Amino acid sequence: MYRLNDKIKDLKPYDPVGERYRIHLDANESFLPIPAEVLEEVKADLDKLEFNRYPDPLAKEACEAFSGYYGVPVRNVVAGNGSDELITVIFTAFLQKGDAFATLEPDFSMYAFNGFLQEMRHVVIGKKEDFTLDIDRVIETCNNEGVKLLIFSNPCNPTSVVQSREEMRKLIRGVDALVILDEAYMDFGAESLLKEFMDYDNLILLRTCSKAFGMAALRLGFAVANDMLAGALRAVKSPYNVNSVTQKIGAAVLRRKEELQKALAEILNSRNFLLEQIKQIGGEFPNCFTVFGGSTNFVTLVLEEPERLYQYLGEQGISVRFTSGLIRVTCGTEEENREFLQVLLNYLKEKGE
Ligand SMILES: *Cc1c(COP(=O)(O)O)cnc(C)c1O
Repeated sequence: MYRLNDKIKDLKPYDPVGERYRIHLDANESFLPIPAEVLEEVKADLDKLEFNRYPDPLAKEACEAFSGYYGVPVRNVVAGNGSDELITVIFTAFLQKGDAFATLEPDFSMYAFNGFLQEMRHVVIGKKEDFTLDIDRVIETCNNEGVKLLIFSNPCNPTSVVQSREEMRKLIRGVDALVILDEAYMDFGAESLLKEFMDYDNLILLRTCSKAFGMAALRLGFAVANDMLAGALRAVKSPYNVNSVTQKIGAAVLRRKEELQKALAEILNSRNFLLEQIKQIGGEFPNCFTVFGGSTNFVTLVLEEPERLYQYLGEQGISVRFTSGLIRVTCGTEEENREFLQVLLNYLKEKGE
């Protein structure tokens, strides 16, 4: 009888939100749909697609649109089936048997998961109490442990903390490892290294269309790196990793810079409102929780008994993410934000009684 190996026999499918909820503030998606006029335009393009043919293996049109939006050379851009796929490709190809990789915890759980599946040695480096990095300690640990790959998100999911460009420069220059800098949320922040990726021989930047650009369903992410690293990524990824529909729609949306900026401003408004209101509630309930946010499309709550709040919200039909002992709340429509705030307020009132 066939048995699953020990590595995978107890794994469960990724399903952070088991049940259906009324309000979804759990996955950091955009609450805005792709503008109707953009979709209308794309439909004509889709009619011309040859579904019997494989997609463009280099997703040239989508990479060009990405390159146009951010002003980076197209030859340094590689498309993936979401940045999740790119993370997996990087783990499979840039590490060899027995190599060590490092993560900075708490951080995006897929990094550790990929390293686990590849059976690589995992070096866990903690953060300070305020979730910032001790850059010198990270550099020292990576180099002492012979780390070959360092991967982390900036701004960080789930803490929402952003580290400065200057600190990133020091870190990338200081380590011997290949650095995977996941800027999934940098459209909401202001410390991107996108304009200077060329200055490093050990940097791969990751970006995604799932958060700021409202295309989570399409699965489109990008890696940006120098010629050698971008070339290696193209050589090791599976040939037809981004499907034709995603390439077409992704390119059409990324070319609409003005609409994207408008949507981004709307998301930032929502985030600011949510953050300000939570801070206000914090003033009314001192010492009940700490809130982090300001560089992402979500806010992060640190509090005692986070699971209790998580469950309370769930019972009211609101799903948030409970991870690494933190409560992560994606900003939503104004109505969704208001409902969340009301339930948070109710929770704190009931708890105080
Ligand atoms: C959401 C997220 C991703 C995955 O993005 P996809 O492009 O949808 O795969 C990668 N990294 C971080 C930190 C994320 O939060």
